[in-house]
Amino acid sequence: MDRVKSTSDEYLRERVKDLKYVKRLLLSKLHQQEVDWESVAKRGDILVSHFLSPVDVVKVAEKGIKGIIVEKGSQTSHTGIVARSVGIPMVKLPDATEVLSEGDYVLVDGHAGRVVVDPAPDEEEPQKAPVRECVAEKLPVSIYANVDFPEEAKVVDELGADGVGIFRTEYIYLVEKSWPSEDVQVEYIKRLLSFLDSDLPVTIRIADLGGDKIPLYAEHMMDELDYRGIRFFMLKESFFRTHIRAILKAFKGRELRLLVPMVSDVYEMKWTKEIVREEMNALRCRPEKVLFGAMIETPAGVIGIRSINEEVDFVSIGSNDLTGFLFGMDRECKIMDYMEPPNNMAMVECVRRVVRVCSSEKVTLCGEVARDRKYLPYLLKAGLRKLSVNPAFIPELRQWLVDYLEGSKREQPC
Ligand code: PEP
Ligand code: MG
Repeated sequence: MDRVKSTSDEYLRERVKDLKYVKRLLLSKLHQQEVDWESVAKRGDILVSHFLSPVDVVKVAEKGIKGIIVEKGSQTSHTGIVARSVGIPMVKLPDATEVLSEGDYVLVDGHAGRVVVDPAPDEEEPQKAPVRECVAEKLPVSIYANVDFPEEAKVVDELGADGVGIFRTEYIYLVEKSWPSEDVQVEYIKRLLSFLDSDLPVTIRIADLGGDKIPLYAEHMMDELDYRGIRFFMLKESFFRTHIRAILKAFKGRELRLLVPMVSDVYEMKWTKEIVREEMNALRCRPEKVLFGAMIETPAGVIGIRSINEEVDFVSIGSNDLTGFLFGMDRECKIMDYMEPPNNMAMVECVRRVVRVCSSEKVTLCGEVARDRKYLPYLLKAGLRKLSVNPAFIPELRQWLVDYLEGSKREQPC
């Protein structure tokens, strides 16, 4: 491969990509990474695996799998996020594939993060946390829902969410077998909107492809997909235009809040806005209004927030990725206690800076930090007023906020 790469013949040099593709394909076949879930997963099974991709979770959910045990993964991994979205308890257990054997009878308690082998007959099936009554009183903090699949939006209203804080569109691509057409994308997004009141704010994120979200049919583009989020689309403008047209068409007559993933430089926003404007002008079916947002999830985004802010109507902080990039760690790893408040305030400082520059009104925090009680008191003091979390966590977050705000009112001297 190195020899091909260093040849003076440009045509041959370009073939390195093909070689890399063949290498990956062979390795994945040899390691049997491409599992045929159709034949493996059976309704009611607990699946034990070294690792699962987010798409694998979608596939096994369709097969009626009841629980997942993985050796590698974390709360903030996309696999974990999707498992929560499709309502399958997932627990991480190092060496699971060695300690557990086919046919074992196990209980997976996603809430407590525990696995019980051969549970006693009276061992309780883990119950979902009871959904408490939504508090009618208007909170000074807004809670939005992170939505991964259209059907998930059905509960947004029921849970009293203030809107959809982020709709992750990359699953449009991940669940298909080839690049989805414009029409397929329009229908997918319309399905989401069909579950939501027309006046509810809905933030739709441009597909954040790359990293651990690479469709199988795009694996030969690994080089380009090293450029995650908006940077991938900057290299593949025609794919981007198709995606944008689909979003614009699906939001016909509504307000569109369009969020750009992985913004690290104001140029990425300017480029996006230009293309959206061009596509808007060429369409008859289009949104009533488009608001642009930047997802701030790299240190460069935090540092460059002043200039980015001038180009956007709103900002969303992606705490999952930002945590990884701040501490130089993989999203699949669990963050160590000493890296969290009150000991380490790096994330709190980032949020404080973004809120100070952009204003509380403009900023929403997404990702798992938005429901983390170790962070929340500091973030609220830093002026953060908008949180977006997985729908399953909305009732308990709301209750925590009510209790916390009540408590801090009591603590104030009269
Ligand atoms: C994040 O990074 O915090 C985020 C919300 O985006 P995702 O988890 O999809 O990367
Ligand atoms: Mg992110």
